[in-house]
Amino acid sequence: MNESSLAGRTALVTGGAKGIGAACCLRLAQAGANIALHYHSSREQALRTADAIRGLGTRAEVFAADVTDGDQVNQMVAEVADRLGPVDILVNNAGIFQLVSHTETTAELWQRTLDVNLNGTFNVTWAVKQSMIDRRFGRIVNIASIAGLRARPMAIAYAASKAAVIAFTKSLSEALAPFNIRVNAVAPGLIETEILDGVDQSQLNSLIAATPMQRIGQPGEIAEVVHFLLSDQSSFMTGQTVVASGGRVLLP
Ligand code: NDP
Repeated sequence: MNESSLAGRTALVTGGAKGIGAACCLRLAQAGANIALHYHSSREQALRTADAIRGLGTRAEVFAADVTDGDQVNQMVAEVADRLGPVDILVNNAGIFQLVSHTETTAELWQRTLDVNLNGTFNVTWAVKQSMIDRRFGRIVNIASIAGLRARPMAIAYAASKAAVIAFTKSLSEALAPFNIRVNAVAPGLIETEILDGVDQSQLNSLIAATPMQRIGQPGEIAEVVHFLLSDQSSFMTGQTVVASGGRVLLP
């Protein structure tokens, strides 16, 4: 029931080059996991993060894929198995976000958001699932959002995708529980990462003002929750969505 429950395990983190994903990679490496760091376009950042992980004394390899492409994902998971061993731990973190009104929510934006945030989560999970079942061991955390738990009129597609990730987490957790596979989710509030680059400062200020703790969160604060849900410290938890939002989901 301690940090060593992840030691020597192979952890695949999608979107691990930067932001919440990079913080998860570093936290899991601190716990002794070997890290399969997935990236899509941020190759330089992926290589830098992998170097930082190796500095912690665990193995780290980088793997490129578009999570919306099932063939690329299957290829990536096969390469992870070759280089680091089969995936024991999966963090489905890759995601996209745009703060837009309903009039700006085009069919293309809707489709792309669902493709990355929901279908990407499905593709990677399905690519690792059978091996976890065969080995009777798996730990999965999906990064959702408080947008999936309450109305977000300026992020309709995003909110729908994250609500679906929460429903996916619940249903999958029941299906996989008999195989010693636990599936949980984290629903972060506002976290300081590049995903917020498209949000202007006045919008950010009003989001912070709507946060009871009156501040933006840091990626490391989410990585701690992810680590908890992957470790034996949460050994009787599955199907849960843990909110880490400075209290924000409580407010309108
Ligand atoms: P970042 O933009 O830093 O990270 C998003 C990651 O998603 C990137 O590493 C990116 O990879 C990856 N990604 C995007 N599109 C694809 C794709 N088609 N295929 C593969 N990977 C892709 O933002 P965050 O760290 O904030 O986001 C991480 C997760 O946290 C997301 O799921 C987001 O929805 C969620 N979240 C974030 C919140 C916040 O306020 N920051 C709040 C609530 C949830 P690359 O750069 O290599 O292309």
